[in-house]
Amino acid sequence: MSPETENEVDQQNARRELPPPLQPLEPLSWNYWWSWAPDGAEVFRDLDPNLWQQCEQNPRLLLTQVSDLRLSEVAADPLYANRIQKLHEQFNAYLSETRPWSKLQLSQRITRANPVAYFCAEFGVHNSLPLYSGGLGILAGDHLKSASDLNLPLVAIGLFYRFGYFRQRMRRDDWQEEQYRENHSDEFALHEVRDNQGQALLIRVTMRGRDVYARVWRADVGRVQLYLLDTNVSENEVTDRLVTGHLYGGDRETRLVQEMMLGIGGVRLLEKLGIEPAVFHLNEGHSAFLTLELTHQYMKANGISFMEAASRVRERCVFTTHTPVAAGHDEFEAALVDKCFGDWSRQALSLSMDDFLKLGRVKGGAQEWFGLTPLALRMCRSSNGVSKKHGEVSRELWHKMWPSVPASEVPITSITNGVHPSTWVAPLLRHVYEETVGEDWIERARDAGVWAYGIETLGDERLWKAHQLLKQRLVAFIRDDAFDARLARGEDEDYIEAARTMFDPKILTIGFARRVAGYKRWDLLLSDTDRLTKLINDSDRPVQFVFAGKAHPQDQGAKQILQKLLDWQRDPSVRQRVAFIEDYDQEIARQLVQGVDVWMNVPRRPMEASGTSGEKVAVNGGLNFSVLDGWWLEGYDGDNGFAIGDLSELGEAEADRQDAESTYRVLAEEVIPRFYERDAEDLPRRWIAMMKRSILTLVPRFSSDRMVAEYVEKIY
Ligand SMILES: *Cc1c(COP(=O)(O)O)cnc(C)c1O
Repeated sequence: MSPETENEVDQQNARRELPPPLQPLEPLSWNYWWSWAPDGAEVFRDLDPNLWQQCEQNPRLLLTQVSDLRLSEVAADPLYANRIQKLHEQFNAYLSETRPWSKLQLSQRITRANPVAYFCAEFGVHNSLPLYSGGLGILAGDHLKSASDLNLPLVAIGLFYRFGYFRQRMRRDDWQEEQYRENHSDEFALHEVRDNQGQALLIRVTMRGRDVYARVWRADVGRVQLYLLDTNVSENEVTDRLVTGHLYGGDRETRLVQEMMLGIGGVRLLEKLGIEPAVFHLNEGHSAFLTLELTHQYMKANGISFMEAASRVRERCVFTTHTPVAAGHDEFEAALVDKCFGDWSRQALSLSMDDFLKLGRVKGGAQEWFGLTPLALRMCRSSNGVSKKHGEVSRELWHKMWPSVPASEVPITSITNGVHPSTWVAPLLRHVYEETVGEDWIERARDAGVWAYGIETLGDERLWKAHQLLKQRLVAFIRDDAFDARLARGEDEDYIEAARTMFDPKILTIGFARRVAGYKRWDLLLSDTDRLTKLINDSDRPVQFVFAGKAHPQDQGAKQILQKLLDWQRDPSVRQRVAFIEDYDQEIARQLVQGVDVWMNVPRRPMEASGTSGEKVAVNGGLNFSVLDGWWLEGYDGDNGFAIGDLSELGEAEADRQDAESTYRVLAEEVIPRFYERDAEDLPRRWIAMMKRSILTLVPRFSSDRMVAEYVEKIY
């Protein structure tokens, strides 16, 4: 998939001459493959562990900033040089080998020349490429990695955000503050895409009566290319340079023009690259305008009507919806749509504004807003939700578009989200799986039989010991993080010092990390802090909690919940056993999911479309303790974790009350006793049995390999 138009000219990135044994680090740093390769992150980390942390696990920055002294030190270490060489060999083998994608039931249409084009507003490939806000982006990143591993021909299209998503800082009064840091493209592993003449490729989209240009960056994710449009170029007016300024920031109009750039600009980019996708996958509705640009192209090329062209476009487009509530779907006022699309609609699509608006309206009423989900549902041949339950919820939610059929026949199916095991697994457990499931466990990640057999052979002691080591690492991480954060906030000295001794690796550790959104019900656990404090401080069977998550900048209520949590956390009676980690991101998620005993999730049913963080915990042997919603409703089998509440249909207030009660009760009566029940060798045998059952029942089913294979077989 190396388009002719794309000349690889020397990177603008400052390149540095490395000592010969270290030279393979240069090509390795240019492909995000290292981030999920065995020993990949560790090789870069060991070049300079402190600097690695300072530059937030970014190999490009690391290689430009590491001192000459350090370079010559490690260059003289033959063991280190060996590791680099091995990694480099594996990288070359990975790129060249023809992986088993014949195992996928791939349709003849999908080839290198006609790949799947995967569109998304955010991509969480790695922490060091901060172009994501949360679950949707992480999922998209995992999708690309599995596509690469399975050798599925796929290119991805997204946006390069100059300021990305906000960084969270907690003030001394425990109020959340947002900070935006500028993303400098030359600090990332991004290749500038150029045309035949070696000039930066520019994509033009007319918006609000002006031509707006975007240059293009390419990130290599294993064998998959991720193209990112960036309007921060001198050809644009100041406002237009900010079209790709912030992820989910700005007003409605900025959002709309951003989505025009993603959808329309993305299609034009693929055309310039000479790529003719067999399938366009709209991952969430943000990119839905791509269907209209495609329609326009068909009309122009074949001289056909809008309706005729649209029906051909439908054959090439598929849509995944991620939101279970009406309010979560992107919508725009008619006047705004007219302002941004009026001329284009009439000239390019021969549609009156009224007909154009009807494409995004549920019933076509003049008062209705223009929604990207109705547009995508109309213009795609296939639509799906992201768990079985979410499929059902989506059919109900959009039944209004198909009023003549029963809800069960609304054409929205489901494919349950999964996670990329080698991205999320702790290195220590990777070794355990290599020994028990097999060296090729990654390739067989979706084979339940192989897992069942392999995990049967895994000794209790071996698994428990590995988990203890990971938990110790998590405790060290929490102490360090709390110490630094308290110091930075200028807290009292004894409070700063207390961070050094907080948390105990022997105590049952529960993680709770996610956006602070209403339906995630952060306040549920805090509804009875006296009861919680008693559990935390039980002299025989104590508990500790680690929290992380961001509140939306405009959501004052969510910020108050965080403030309440942190205020409670300062109380001397709990402060050694409750931690809040600032600025939840992919790296913090990794630390947490790899080290906790238990992962808790208490969404208000049925609002959790899927959720994926609990799946990451399962990969690492942790247990889920969650409301039966999203993926956990499918994954829970009675013996592989814990359920909160039941499936009864209650009003909101009553459901909240009963789920809070269930949370405290199951914690006190099931989770805590089971964890502390030890045999003569001090092993919690029944707990370990549950860990094993969780691994073997959940890892193969909720891996992104299974997910991508399902997209290939059922959707693409
Ligand atoms: C996995 C992940 C998410 C999504 O997790 P949910 O279970 O949907 O809450 C969000 N943010 C980060 C940083 C993640 O790694």
